[in-house]
Amino acid sequence: MNIHEHQAKALLKTYGAPVAEGVAIHSADEAESAANSLPGPLYVVKSQIHAGGRGKGKFKELGADAKGGVRLAKSIDEVVANAREMLGNTLVTKQTGPAGKQVNRLYIEDGADIARELYCSLLVDRATGRVSFVVSTEGGMDIEAVAEETPEKIITVAVDPDTGVTPENIDSITLALKLDGDAAEDAKSLFPALYKAFVENDMSLLEVNPLIVMEDGHLRVLDAKVSFDNNAAFRHEEWADMRDLSEEDDKEIEASKYDLAYVALDGNIGCMVNGAGLAMSTMDIIKLYGAEPANFLDVGGGASKEKVTAAFKIITADPAVKGILVNIFGGIMRCDVIAEGVIAAVKEVGLEVPLVVRLEGTRVKEGKEILDKSGLNVISADDLDDAAQKIVEAVKK
Ligand code: ADP
Ligand code: MG
Repeated sequence: MNIHEHQAKALLKTYGAPVAEGVAIHSADEAESAANSLPGPLYVVKSQIHAGGRGKGKFKELGADAKGGVRLAKSIDEVVANAREMLGNTLVTKQTGPAGKQVNRLYIEDGADIARELYCSLLVDRATGRVSFVVSTEGGMDIEAVAEETPEKIITVAVDPDTGVTPENIDSITLALKLDGDAAEDAKSLFPALYKAFVENDMSLLEVNPLIVMEDGHLRVLDAKVSFDNNAAFRHEEWADMRDLSEEDDKEIEASKYDLAYVALDGNIGCMVNGAGLAMSTMDIIKLYGAEPANFLDVGGGASKEKVTAAFKIITADPAVKGILVNIFGGIMRCDVIAEGVIAAVKEVGLEVPLVVRLEGTRVKEGKEILDKSGLNVISADDLDDAAQKIVEAVKK
């Protein structure tokens, strides 16, 4: 789960990280009083969407010459004018994809005098199994480009979970970021604070890009991106208040209500599969035969008829879906439950696209019988290879 920049900064502030003052607003009418509450004379109007690259992004509705999604303003009037221009429009950045994201809230923030822009992130490094700092002097820009072109400018510092951030870790980061004076002093509290925030909040990513050295020599967190590890949701009731459903895919929200592992994709073949591994293979084989999956979906082990029905409805509700492939290897999952779920869903929402079903395993005979008797126009398949070829063929027609 992702949160907005202003929420991430509020969270980091509780750990003592230096962030600017700021106010989140949902309508342009709030812009003036928000700016009035800040010290000025420099303000920044920042689009709050769950995607980076906002500064260099472009608004769809505004001309190519219009400014991006992060704008400096030198007066309160400018803050208000920018807020009016930005709110409600669609921001397209490198990370949003061509469709872009509608800007429904802005963060009005105190402007900083920037001397240097650095990069700092925390993530779980799977190679070492440790939470690691990834830092670079090349901040503010596209870190993927830095990794590509000058990988030697990115330094990784792994943290031992037994000790937490050690003075040696801080020295390594300080050296890598070429910090001195007040900034080096600030580093002693900032990096342990970021680590503590990361661990205590079960983050999977904390990215500060840029972390800045200000003209006065001190450090400040100027941008913050936080992703939480959904597997820890059970112990973070507070996440519910931070969730912004307008940033999430409607189909994924619906799926999460039924505890379905569903990820929306761009293709046109809807997939209903049990088991994450089988779901991955199903997507691979669809691609092998020249088509694209519309989703990843693992209905899970002992899914109920209701769950299967919900899953099927989510798939059929996607207008991009031109064919559906049900691929079930019944181990714990029973094939007859799948068949009943599919039929219940079709009764409710109808079936306008070809449906290929491959069933194997527990109660497969009963499952096939149920489908046969239903009168549904099901194309049945013998194995995964056969199923994939049949559905790819069917959507081509
Ligand atoms: P994004 O990464 O989505 O483009 P950032 O928050 O990193 O958004 O902002 C982009 C750039 O805008 C920063 O690299 C920085 O140069 C400038 N900027 C952002 N916030 C401020 C601020 N409070 N004061 C001054 N400049 C800022
Ligand atoms: Mg940034």
